[in-house]
Amino acid sequence: MKLCRFDDDRLGLVEDDVVADVSAALDVLPPVRWPAPHGDRLIANLDAVRAEVERIEGAAKRVALADVKLLSPVANPTKVIGAPVNYQAHHEESAADTGVNFGQDIKTIDEYGLFLKSPVLVGPSDGVALHFTDRRNDHEVEVSAIIGKAGKDIAREDALDHIAAYAIGLDMTVRGTEERSLRKAIDSYSVLGPWLVTADEIGDPDNLDFSIHVGDELRQKSNTSMLIFDMRRLVEYGSSFYTLYPGDVIMTGTPEGVGPVQPGDVMHCWAEKIGRMDVP
Ligand code: MN
Repeated sequence: MKLCRFDDDRLGLVEDDVVADVSAALDVLPPVRWPAPHGDRLIANLDAVRAEVERIEGAAKRVALADVKLLSPVANPTKVIGAPVNYQAHHEESAADTGVNFGQDIKTIDEYGLFLKSPVLVGPSDGVALHFTDRRNDHEVEVSAIIGKAGKDIAREDALDHIAAYAIGLDMTVRGTEERSLRKAIDSYSVLGPWLVTADEIGDPDNLDFSIHVGDELRQKSNTSMLIFDMRRLVEYGSSFYTLYPGDVIMTGTPEGVGPVQPGDVMHCWAEKIGRMDVP
């Protein structure tokens, strides 16, 4: 099932180029008093929401996908986890490019571990508001996992049971010497979309083609089989540091081909079994 958040926080069921407005399914969410529990309420109750979507979608109003504003499918993650240098070919290009490495010795995820991006996600319709345009601002397209079931110290063999859905992430980055959590957590630099695809439609997350064009130019094209830390390892390793909550996002890392974007560019992202996402 493909579920989107669109327009003024409506819930949509995506069917090819049509969106069925299934916002009424949100009525199954339990009421919340302050303080809200950690995690995204929609994702925490995804099974119940899905059942209600299936019950009501036949009578739902349809609108053209092209006519809706797509927001991040996850509204309230407690964290967005980043995976630095998690593709070998991206390690090689980073080591060779002073515009990326700034004279520093580039290591891989084995030595860096993870980092946190801003949990304030934007969707494709929001776009990225570039900051510090005198510096290099790069796209990093990344297949992203959405945690469904909370857990700490999750075993590798249980890891996929904790993933509810997948989406495309953009780990937008200002290049420089500052900490990643500064350069990659700028407002609007954490993009998720175009919708979530439930894990049952994805099957093996470690064999997904994905790509990004900027304008007409192909910049990055790879497959998640090239990850250094694969999906299960990211969940296992990440949860050894952090309790993962429903709605938490793991951006799994970017392959070779990172490069700068300029104001006015449009980034055209694609991932197998997920779809296309255009981000201005
Ligand atoms: Mn990245």
